[in-house]
Amino acid sequence: MKVVVAEKCGFCHGVKNAISVAEQVLAEKNDVYSLGPIIHNRDEVEQLANIGLKTVGKVEEIQSGTVLIRSHGAAPEQIAKLREKGLNIVDATCILVKRVQHIASELEKDGYKVVIIGEENHPEVRAVMGCAKDVVVIADESDLHKLPQNAKLGVVCQTTQSPEHFGKMLGAIGRGGFSELKVINTLCKEAIKRQESAVQLCKQVDIMFVLGGLESANTRRLAELCKKYNSETFHLQNWNELDKNILLGKNIAGVTAGASTPEWIIAEFVKNLEAFDNCNDVRANMEPPGKGGG
Ligand code: SF4
Repeated sequence: MKVVVAEKCGFCHGVKNAISVAEQVLAEKNDVYSLGPIIHNRDEVEQLANIGLKTVGKVEEIQSGTVLIRSHGAAPEQIAKLREKGLNIVDATCILVKRVQHIASELEKDGYKVVIIGEENHPEVRAVMGCAKDVVVIADESDLHKLPQNAKLGVVCQTTQSPEHFGKMLGAIGRGGFSELKVINTLCKEAIKRQESAVQLCKQVDIMFVLGGLESANTRRLAELCKKYNSETFHLQNWNELDKNILLGKNIAGVTAGASTPEWIIAEFVKNLEAFDNCNDVRANMEPPGKGGG
């Protein structure tokens, strides 16, 4: 099968940095924890676990050693708790996420009601929420009722949202009742480049694959966008998840991957897909056991 890989896909600077920091710390120390998965990719987290990284959900689960703050960051309250426990903290928060945290806290100091356009349960958003006392998170138009009337609104965006969604939400906020509106663009250019490149590619192929963790916000965004332009879009974590039957009748496939998807997952997927014989391999896959021996 012919396979085209998106010009921009896979690891971004923030994720590369978090992994290299983790590997460095693991090479030097023994008791190393990550507060939440270091990145949103199960396969990469498993690889790091094999060399000693222990992933925990809460500060209370760590008694000693070194704690890595993941690329999505952590709320100041969590960091304070880690300090109180006397743990060694290594911060691998992406600088762009740090920027959103800083902006949220500055907006609040300047008297704005902080509004984040994003997913309330995403770790990046939760960490930003922890940087100001009273934050409103709006995912889509159904959340607009949460905005206070006649207030000074200071709006930021989860880094991996799409510019289209950011713009649409700003338009909707703008139609509401506010006394002042300050907007700071906190979208990540790396995520935007991946979105543009994925959309361009998905329009030219019979079938589109988006590789990456199911919890990864930027990967989900890529899949949502591609699905809009190519209904034959599939979000998979790796090659093992592929149902070969969906390849039937397809000649050209596009592949993209989220900012937290390792290169080896992409390479393995592309190699197997290229080697896939559209007619014979699909038929073999569909035949009941015992009938394929010839
Ligand atoms: S996608 Fe952007 S904001 Fe998120 S970790 Fe990567 S570089 Fe940082």
